[in-house]
Amino acid sequence: MTEINEQNGSVSNSDNEKTNQLSKNWLIILFYIYLHIFGIGGFYFLFTKAKWMTVLYFASLVIFSYIGLTVGAHRLYAHQTFTASTSLRFFLVTAHILAGVGPLYDWVLWHRVHHKYHNTDKDPYDHRKGFIYAHVLGNFLSVPSDQQTYLKNIDMRDVDSDRLVWLQKRFYWILFIVLGFLLPVRVPVMYWGESFVNSVLVIGVARLIITTHIAWLVNSALLVWGMKKGARYPINDNSVFFLMKSYWLNYHYILPWDWKSEEFGSYEKGFSTFMIKMMYEMGLIKNMKTATTEDLRETLEEMATSQIPINEAFNKLKKKSEENACRESLLYHP
Ligand SMILES: [Zn+2]
Repeated sequence: MTEINEQNGSVSNSDNEKTNQLSKNWLIILFYIYLHIFGIGGFYFLFTKAKWMTVLYFASLVIFSYIGLTVGAHRLYAHQTFTASTSLRFFLVTAHILAGVGPLYDWVLWHRVHHKYHNTDKDPYDHRKGFIYAHVLGNFLSVPSDQQTYLKNIDMRDVDSDRLVWLQKRFYWILFIVLGFLLPVRVPVMYWGESFVNSVLVIGVARLIITTHIAWLVNSALLVWGMKKGARYPINDNSVFFLMKSYWLNYHYILPWDWKSEEFGSYEKGFSTFMIKMMYEMGLIKNMKTATTEDLRETLEEMATSQIPINEAFNKLKKKSEENACRESLLYHP
């Protein structure tokens, strides 16, 4: 009897949690609807009424946020594709506040859930449901009843131990309101006499729409640039994309720890990859993990000849890449 009551109790608790989560999500959905309505005005003002300085300032804030989202949240924190100095991590975590997409910790957690459960019912941005779901709806509608259970399966110890991420999470809303909204909106009014309305609509609203869609697109990009369903693969070679990295986003879902996987450009080419190279030259990052075509070929050969499980083969490849990255970082670079 007690068992039945406990069971009923846990069912109603999970139902309550789900209802609370859904009503919270509806508030967020309303926020984004209003953001987009005002954003239309913001883009109109950006192209017709804003001063040139405001346009340049808008572009530089978007670029700054873009680096925080792609280099910081995605490649550094979600996939640990390299290690970064404290000063660079400070820069990236601050840039992420400017993007205004919620705490970095949460984005990393959900991106890891997305990778771990890719193409299953537990994937919050389930690509099988189409682009609109993966890009927009998945951010609000994925409220599985066993959410807490499967979140426990995501290893976040590396991110948990980062004090900057912890601080950002702890004080996120106050940091975002001051650093990510009020300060950026105040600057054009104070320094080059932009009107307050222009500044709020362009720098406050339109900018946040762009950064929000950049953050969402990292989870849905595979549907835009990845291998299409039913695509005609090169004759006798289904793994050519893997070796040539021509479908770099499909490659990213197989080897997410490769630092050269661009979010929106192409493999090893693109703005974020260029920025990482610059940061490396400045001595701010090291241990950059990547898989050479030769190593990939060897892994495929080993899988084919010795019949070792795919996960084991990829783990071996990752270990080899980590060793190579470590060896490289020990070399003297004048
Ligand atoms: Zn990823």
